[in-house]
Amino acid sequence: MSKNSSFSISNPDKLKLDAVQKIGLIVALLGVSILFVAWFGITFPYPAVFLSISALFIFIGTVVYAKQTYLKQPAGIKNNNVWFNSLSNRGVLGWFLGIVLTLFYVLLYWFPSYLGYDPSGAQNRGLVALFDPLSLFFNGKIASQWFVYGTLYTLLIASLGIKFMYKYRHNRYQLIRTVVVIVSQLFLAYLIPEILEGLNSDTPYFAKDIKNMWPLNYYFFEPWHLDNMINGGTLGMLYLVIGIFMFLVFTPIITYYVGKRWYCSWVCGCGGLAETAGDSFRQLSSKTVSSWKIERWMIHTVMVLIFIVTAVVLYGYFANSGEFLGISIYNYFSKPYGFLIGAMFSGVVGVGFYPVLGSRVWCRFGCPLAGYMGLFQRFKSRFRITTNGGQCISCGNCSTYCEQGIDVRAYAQKGENIVRASCVGCGICSAVCPRGVLKLENGPEEGRINPTDVLLGNDIDLMNYVNKKQ
Ligand code: SF4
Ligand code: SF4
Repeated sequence: MSKNSSFSISNPDKLKLDAVQKIGLIVALLGVSILFVAWFGITFPYPAVFLSISALFIFIGTVVYAKQTYLKQPAGIKNNNVWFNSLSNRGVLGWFLGIVLTLFYVLLYWFPSYLGYDPSGAQNRGLVALFDPLSLFFNGKIASQWFVYGTLYTLLIASLGIKFMYKYRHNRYQLIRTVVVIVSQLFLAYLIPEILEGLNSDTPYFAKDIKNMWPLNYYFFEPWHLDNMINGGTLGMLYLVIGIFMFLVFTPIITYYVGKRWYCSWVCGCGGLAETAGDSFRQLSSKTVSSWKIERWMIHTVMVLIFIVTAVVLYGYFANSGEFLGISIYNYFSKPYGFLIGAMFSGVVGVGFYPVLGSRVWCRFGCPLAGYMGLFQRFKSRFRITTNGGQCISCGNCSTYCEQGIDVRAYAQKGENIVRASCVGCGICSAVCPRGVLKLENGPEEGRINPTDVLLGNDIDLMNYVNKKQ
């Protein structure tokens, strides 16, 4: 291609940083570099000081960078550069970040000593030792790798949540939702569980994230957990009763009224990270019909699996036996599920692959709680996204930025309501639509689904339509 050609496949709108953006970026990277130095085995002499500097630098640097970046451009999505940026389009930077994240998760789950964790509890080193003073402050114990993870997770959601709010500042739904996401993570998933752990260190019956519930919190009905709740006094029994009530009664009722968004996009920790830290990767979710088919099979298979595993575990608990049909329940049911789904899928793949497969891989293909709520949302709920098809200019923003891989534009072009089990109600499709076509609504059930559709007929109809377009 000639130098003067009017077309170029190189970056048409190269990202240029001004002085404030550069300062913000450098400050944030300095904060991150303290963590990396610690990860490589350096134990800092004053860990409380270095951890505070690191956390403050990451937070302040990110906020300064985000404010300067987003306030000088129109609110909402700006497509320029997204498909040319190495980080947001599976380039070298994207793959590099994916590999680092995956490696971090592998170490976190199976080799925490490489992060500096001392399993004997005597003396941590490196990265984990950096968090010892904070852990001692909250719960009187030196840090575990999970404390490090929880702290960094919360820091990421808070700092990138603010970035998200600058970006979507024109949309009240996004602003309120993100404040709720940050507050839920900070209090329900981090501060309260840490303080409770300090008060009940011998009977850890509460999940690290107290807003998790079965079947996402897959060990809820494990014998050790049941015993700890039953022996945990009033608080333990309360936790048991609330846990069952949440799943059996509260979740179906609230999902009926507002869809599964109340959990997936407002309070869930996995969803919170996907919405904030994963925002730069939402366009990478596959929109093909084959992904849609795989998604439906996978998420419901995982859901059936956890129902079976839990039934067997409860059978063993009440029969006072560790075996089912002569085989070990732990070795053949609980352990494989915990390894394959709880660790590999939700942790390593779910977050490690953000820069490659998009930010909601776990929520879309694996989360059994999302699968359970999705059934209500699809068949018995008032939630839908309405489309004012006449206004649609087919720009495709909505489909591009739907993290759940829903081809929203196909519905808009047909003027059909979007009633999909997988929709997490993040509202981004509506926030990025330049024509105000899409509206998240909780209306009467009647008329929500096209009356000519029978059960899955709507989806099959849409699949045929999308197939023809591809
Ligand atoms: S359809 Fe819209 S609200 Fe639903 S998941 Fe996709 S972007 Fe979010
Ligand atoms: S619904 Fe809005 S965002 Fe989606 S294709 Fe139509 S105009 Fe574009």
